[in-house]
Amino acid sequence: QAKHKGRGRYDIFNPLTREAAITRLEMENDLRKAIEREEFCMYYQPIYSLQTDRICGFESLVRWNHYSGKLISPIHFIPIAEEIGLINALGLWILKQSLHQMKIWHQQFSDRLSDRSLWMNVNISPIQLKQIDFAQNVQKALEESGLPSNCLKLEITESCLLDFADSEISVLEQLKNLDIKLCIDDFGTGYSSLSRLHELPIHTLKIDRSFVQKLATSNKNSMVSTIINLAHGLSMDVVAEGVETESQKQILRSLNCNYGQGYFLSLPLDSKAATSLIEYNDLHYR
Ligand code: C2E
Ligand code: MG
Ligand code: MG
Ligand code: MG
Repeated sequence: QAKHKGRGRYDIFNPLTREAAITRLEMENDLRKAIEREEFCMYYQPIYSLQTDRICGFESLVRWNHYSGKLISPIHFIPIAEEIGLINALGLWILKQSLHQMKIWHQQFSDRLSDRSLWMNVNISPIQLKQIDFAQNVQKALEESGLPSNCLKLEITESCLLDFADSEISVLEQLKNLDIKLCIDDFGTGYSSLSRLHELPIHTLKIDRSFVQKLATSNKNSMVSTIINLAHGLSMDVVAEGVETESQKQILRSLNCNYGQGYFLSLPLDSKAATSLIEYNDLHYR
């Protein structure tokens, strides 16, 4: 009987899925230790004004510097961190780290930033927004960093707007009252209703890169131009994600898109390379 069961197990768990299961388990255990071990690091991708070519902000993007030597993408570990209840701690670490870096830049470039802003976009998981004290924690982190609140923008996904409970909407209101701006990430891929979009305190729409990639010929009727007009009609700013070519950039500029982000403009960079890029970009405005 036992033998039969045993054989049955092997039928179900072929070597590949067994390995995947172990890797997944190991990953969970490693993730739990990774914060203490300081294995996470932040990359920063600049967000450019498409009207002036000036760097106006950065999006912070987390990576996992696994002790095996691999740099693991957030798409592989953020969902696990969400599942095993680690995302709130990791998210707070990410927020503090991102604010700390922005504070360094504000000090380093204080003479040049007097006439303009340089902000940090931080990605927020829908699970983080379910914490009753989320806005308070953000405020505390901001105070610790010494930055004004208009230097911080939070990116939330469109799909997380859909099933918002009232308590989460009040978190959004609290953030708005703290002068912390909200961006809808990957806009156009979720299912938010237009009335929700209108009634919530949203400052910026980030057009998902799948629409930007289709920009080529018939631009006037493209989704991109439709989203830009929608955003401007609602008095929101627009960022185009995934700008990969010069021609996409030019079309976006001609469609009055406010900001662009993507490999054509710059890859996500470590803090050192991002610092050099700010200096380089700034040379053109002396
Ligand atoms: P996202 O927030 O939409 O971030 C943009 C992703 O697109 C980043 O991938 C970025 O490297 C990539 N990207 C930028 N420009 C281009 C381009 O021109 N072409 C293409 N093909 N891709 C481009 P990344 O860093 O791998 O992050 C993937 C996703 O993981 C993010 O999508 C976000 O949802 C999540 N994520 C990243 N960092 C964090 C974080 O700190 N917290 C949370 N909760 N999620 C994060
Ligand atoms: Mg994002
Ligand atoms: Mg995005
Ligand atoms: Mg995206």
